[in-house]
Amino acid sequence: MTGKTVPLDREQLESICGRYGTPFHLYDEKAIRENARRFYRAFDWVPGGFKNYFAVKALPNPHILEILKEEGMGADCSSMAELLLAKAVGLPGEDIMFTSNDTPAEEFRAAREMKAIINLDDISHIPFLEKEAGLPELLCLRYNPGNLKSGNAIIGEPEDAKYGFTRSQVLEGYRTLREKGLKRFGLHTMVASNELKADYFVETARILFELAAEVFHTLGIRLEFINLGGGIGIPYRPEQQAVDMEYVSRGIRRQYEEIIEKNGLDPVQIVFESGRMVTGPYGYLVTRVRHIKKTYKTFVGVDATMANLMRPGMYGAYHHISLPGKPADTEKVVCDVAGSLCENNDKFAVARQLPEVKPGDLMVIHDTGAHGHAMGFNYNGKLRSAEVLLKEDGSTKLIRRAETVKDLFATLEYPGL
Ligand SMILES: *Cc1c(COP(=O)(O)O)cnc(C)c1O
Repeated sequence: MTGKTVPLDREQLESICGRYGTPFHLYDEKAIRENARRFYRAFDWVPGGFKNYFAVKALPNPHILEILKEEGMGADCSSMAELLLAKAVGLPGEDIMFTSNDTPAEEFRAAREMKAIINLDDISHIPFLEKEAGLPELLCLRYNPGNLKSGNAIIGEPEDAKYGFTRSQVLEGYRTLREKGLKRFGLHTMVASNELKADYFVETARILFELAAEVFHTLGIRLEFINLGGGIGIPYRPEQQAVDMEYVSRGIRRQYEEIIEKNGLDPVQIVFESGRMVTGPYGYLVTRVRHIKKTYKTFVGVDATMANLMRPGMYGAYHHISLPGKPADTEKVVCDVAGSLCENNDKFAVARQLPEVKPGDLMVIHDTGAHGHAMGFNYNGKLRSAEVLLKEDGSTKLIRRAETVKDLFATLEYPGL
């Protein structure tokens, strides 16, 4: 059971709302740093070193990337904009992993210029990259284990997923690259998203370690690093448990000893490209109740919309909701919590038991620190909110202002707009 608490009380939140207005996403710097340190501590045994390349898409804000950089993380990028963010915070080339798919030539060129590690998604990208940007000395290949591994609800079965090389393509890919003079290689896979089963990650490591051994025995190539991808889930529901990373680490260590060490492949660096588990639980969408509507159901209308947090509307994802300052014995009602889009999926909760609220009350939607603001969009002309950092000393900093209609119309040239 995960206690869902908010790091500030109602008065403190009201004072932040007074400065920035609602809605906004609030990120807890202290909790993000502590979590990053726990993650790294769990893997401090890896003989070849350990690194998490934070998946920038989860929370593409340079102020957050800077914090994570200070904690030793790199950046996992999959688009030009994400590469530019990683570059802006001054990450050195090899602290940037470029894991893209259906990749445009200019993004390969940008990644090459930045000396980022390129993680190729397909065997046909070898000649494409060579022609468009030239081959680097180090490349990573993304493996899709197909029916060797079951997928999960968000990504689906690996065989249906658009990502990665087949097993035989991985071997052929390394062979081709070696013939072209490459000397340094990595191996990657990512087949799940928001997965809470710890053994899943141990098994992923085993599959990759075994493939690394096969690559060594058939081609004589020693991999420099193994990238276990992202996809580590977080307990969105209060009754769920966080993935025990100490347990995952012990499991991976056993596989490392049995496969990597026994095959003489030690040391190999182990890396992840986790986004969600790094920042997800430490973000909060703060919104205010605007209207209470009673028809066939009770609807609590808030000033945030799917434009600020799409996961509930898009996947039916659960996000816990707290009402700061409401005494525990407040009477509960069953309601839908909705935004103002002309789209009936624009709901943060459906048939949720919540303490009775009234217009003007603050509501906090939990676990919005990853794939929250980032997935925002402007349908219906709704504007994306501000992002606020709650610093370690308790002060706050605006790390992204809210959009204005002027931002929305910036790409239109039309009189009166
Ligand atoms: C989305 C993604 C990640 C991050 O996933 P999380 O669920 O946020 O950990 C990492 N790598 C790749 C290739 C991705 O597409």
